[in-house]
Amino acid sequence: MNLKDELQKRFGYSSFRKGQEEIISAVLSKKDVVGRLPTGSGKSLCYVFPAQDISGLFLIISPLLSLMEDQVYRLKMMGYKKVAALNSLRTPKEKKKIFLQIRDLKFLFLSPEMLQSIQVLRTLQQVMIGLFIVDEAHCISKWGHDFRPDYLKLKDFLKGYPHVQKLALTATATKEVLQDIILYLELQQPKMILTSINRENIALLSHQVEDIKEKNLYLKELVKQLPKPMLIYCNRRKTTELLRAELETTKTLSLWNIHCFHGGLDRSSKLILTEQFVSNEIDIMICTTAFGMGIHKDDIRTVIHFDPPLQYESYLQEVGRAGRDQYQACSIVLWHKKDFIQNEQLILYEHLDFEQIRMYLNEKYIKLEAVDTNKFIEYYFDLLLQQEGYELKIKKNRGFMEESIDFYAKKIYNYTMHRKQLNMAECRRMRTFFEDRTQCRRKVLLAYFDETNVSKQENCCDVCGVRTSDFYVKESKKQRPSFNWLQKLNGLLQMSSPIKTE
Ligand code: ADP
Repeated sequence: MNLKDELQKRFGYSSFRKGQEEIISAVLSKKDVVGRLPTGSGKSLCYVFPAQDISGLFLIISPLLSLMEDQVYRLKMMGYKKVAALNSLRTPKEKKKIFLQIRDLKFLFLSPEMLQSIQVLRTLQQVMIGLFIVDEAHCISKWGHDFRPDYLKLKDFLKGYPHVQKLALTATATKEVLQDIILYLELQQPKMILTSINRENIALLSHQVEDIKEKNLYLKELVKQLPKPMLIYCNRRKTTELLRAELETTKTLSLWNIHCFHGGLDRSSKLILTEQFVSNEIDIMICTTAFGMGIHKDDIRTVIHFDPPLQYESYLQEVGRAGRDQYQACSIVLWHKKDFIQNEQLILYEHLDFEQIRMYLNEKYIKLEAVDTNKFIEYYFDLLLQQEGYELKIKKNRGFMEESIDFYAKKIYNYTMHRKQLNMAECRRMRTFFEDRTQCRRKVLLAYFDETNVSKQENCCDVCGVRTSDFYVKESKKQRPSFNWLQKLNGLLQMSSPIKTE
């Protein structure tokens, strides 16, 4: 098969983007594949293209609801009808419909958590899985060890499918993360297709301020002067709301439509805000990192980090949301010294201490109270018991727990300490990155992802002489068509519900 001809025929694209052809070709030759492509470079095509050539269900593990819903929506817009997503947005009735129609599906999007459901596992047994795809596969390593252990349990699921072909796709994996992906997906001599993740059209700027007051003032200047559409990332929900209130009441900014987005909003608000941003009704979105992944907007010109990111991976991902149309874009991180201390506090707050772990085990297994399941504790507890060769059902009982609660709480705490230390080290590495004014930022960032052959480029970073003011523009607000958002929302809600059989 001539892949280029097929690309034109099937999708109307004249050429492959970097890495796509190699990945598709390896998938078609039945290999396990790891593909690392930069954000926005067309990872979805790597599994949509071969769907016509490989029989069986394509199971796609995806980390975020918004990402899944968007992929389902876009596949349906492309004419694929046999598509569905199983996640917490589905009502029991909708889930049942998907279970009943499983044999008719070609693409099924799932969160890793969904693979823990007995009903899902039983339903999947009725079909042949043609390709097991993990989108944003770095989440296995980045999230799996901390707050989404179900990512690590993909390994257990795959034990039931020893011969299934696998494809892992990511935009940000380091050597260690790639090793985790291979380990937890049990990839067999995978073909590794790792393209450069450098986004040449995005300038990387870091700007130190004295304190929060100066940061607020400078932000207003940037919001006024830098090109839109614009994303402003914050590490906390509350900050997005406070900033919105602050910017909205600034007279010089009244020209712009400013909103905020975070994980605490209800589903309809999230859908409407996303659509409004995508269709340029909103110029500036102040958001937590919950916003961005799976949003198809090619023309974001500016990404501002109001709080410095906690790790290189998230920095690269968030910055990478700008300039997908390949035109020049600008990213800038604002920081003062206290921000890094606050970031460390965020990490401390996220990790459980010994007493919290002990209390959980005590309430759940000794007092037998109905507590909310803590997946992190349960995952590591199961792992410990397995390592010791215990049969879980026998050992997770009251008598056993009374005797050994301190022992297991301590062991689980040791895991959390280990993770905490790693996260802290990443946070400190980020601090050094933003504070250092001697080395090209692009070179340092790419070296972290093991890319060393980086040539000099225009509009590189502040260390290489680029200034934020180089990107200042005089803009006037465009006239926008009026839009019936309620109608649009209803359409969207229907789109992402289960398949309709013709
Ligand atoms: P990613 O998952 O890597 O962020 P997507 O798969 O969402 O990116 O694709 C980004 C955009 O690129 C989509 O609009 C898609 O249609 C487009 N695209 C993908 N491959 C090609 C190609 N070979 N030529 C032109 N456009 C492409």
